[in-house]
Amino acid sequence: MNVEIVTIGDELLLGFTVDINASFLGRELASLGVTEVRHTTCGDDIAVIVETLREALERTGAVITTGGLGPTADDMTVEAVAKLFGRTMARDEGIARWLEQRWLTFRRKAPMPESNYKQAMIPSGAEIIANPIGSAPGVLLTDERGRWVVTLPGVPREVRSMFTESFRPRIAALAGNGAVIRSATLRTTGVGESAIADKLGELGKGFNGLSLAFLPGVSGVDLRLTSRVLVSQQADAALAEGTRILREQLGDAVYGENEVSLAEVVLAGCRKAGMRISVAESCTGGMLGSHITDVPGASDVFHGGLIAYDDRVKRQLLGVLDSDLDEHGAVSEPVALQMAKGIRVRLGTEIAVSITGIAGPDGGTDEKPVGTVWVAVDVSEGRPPIPRPHGHPPITPYAKARLFHFAGNRDEIRYRAAQAALDMIRRTVLEPPKPPAT
Ligand code: ATP
Ligand code: MG
Repeated sequence: MNVEIVTIGDELLLGFTVDINASFLGRELASLGVTEVRHTTCGDDIAVIVETLREALERTGAVITTGGLGPTADDMTVEAVAKLFGRTMARDEGIARWLEQRWLTFRRKAPMPESNYKQAMIPSGAEIIANPIGSAPGVLLTDERGRWVVTLPGVPREVRSMFTESFRPRIAALAGNGAVIRSATLRTTGVGESAIADKLGELGKGFNGLSLAFLPGVSGVDLRLTSRVLVSQQADAALAEGTRILREQLGDAVYGENEVSLAEVVLAGCRKAGMRISVAESCTGGMLGSHITDVPGASDVFHGGLIAYDDRVKRQLLGVLDSDLDEHGAVSEPVALQMAKGIRVRLGTEIAVSITGIAGPDGGTDEKPVGTVWVAVDVSEGRPPIPRPHGHPPITPYAKARLFHFAGNRDEIRYRAAQAALDMIRRTVLEPPKPPAT
């Protein structure tokens, strides 16, 4: 089943109000298996509302509106729908009494303003949709060809309760065959979109009746599998199988599913392995620590860190050698390695990570253009190999630095650097390198 959404209100067009109702309805309809084919926004102008609804109704035959159900002059949605369907408006005495009752309960003794009776004006032949928490009821009008418009209020809280309690049971029945739209997302980092597409080959076009979307962003590439034609249980089974197949193809590029953040995965991994983290950040200026501490309960794993922005801080507080700073510059492998080791030793953690790079827009050179970032990991030495769960080989002390060239503006480069640092911890903790052959 297809529907269109029309959200109504000048404030939406002017950008003062973000269209929360459209995003709420989009998610709800999808989960009910209803396809929202289009979403239009129009202002508080009756001619425009009528025209917008007419077009939507002609295209799709099923329209949900939000906004403009109130008592004031700029609330004209019901009137517009009546016009469109050629219905007259008449006062519904049941609603009028209910409004008076509600007024008494909520607004004390003063008589209800005359304008409030406007909300009792209902087009002939309309079905009334109860509004459990607000004053304005919605209406559902159907024409002789079975095409319909339902009006919901503007206040997002009222839209939620009215849709859920009064309208969802109806639309679920209208949707018919019981198919649901359901998705599962696999989150990857450290591998580009095209490299993932290459790895997936034909699977990249979707498989087993599931569509596959590539969603690249600064945190990595998300892969979203969607089922649109199956009923609930089958959809869940198809998504579980689809997720398994993608994981098999992509291996350790996948760090998690759905809403999970890389920092959450890293913290959980370190917690399990009994490893505490410290960080030394230059160009990210605390962003890495911020991402880690965004996760509630980080304190048992995350020890702290240092923003070592100026070379003096790298030298004096982390023990980076003057000679390396002079010879190789602050953005270099030896400096990244010494920063990681410096913070780990000083804070006494089992693992540390460091970031040093050029976030731009200035400061790039031919040799080290903007986006050049070194990330280093240092795992404690002089400590027995760290025992691993699930039969993983123990982690042996090691240090490693990696050079990245990130694209994007200053913010994006810094975000990608923080993400790369987290990913280096993840790979160290979850899939430790093989101990060197002796
Ligand atoms: P009221 O009885 O309060 O007048 P209403 O049903 O007439 O309610 P509107 O007047 O259109 O609805 O909007 C009421 C409030 O809800 C306003 O603050 C408006 O900014 C907000 N609102 C309306 N539409 C949306 C929307 N699509 N997304 C988020 N907020 C909205
Ligand atoms: Mg209003």
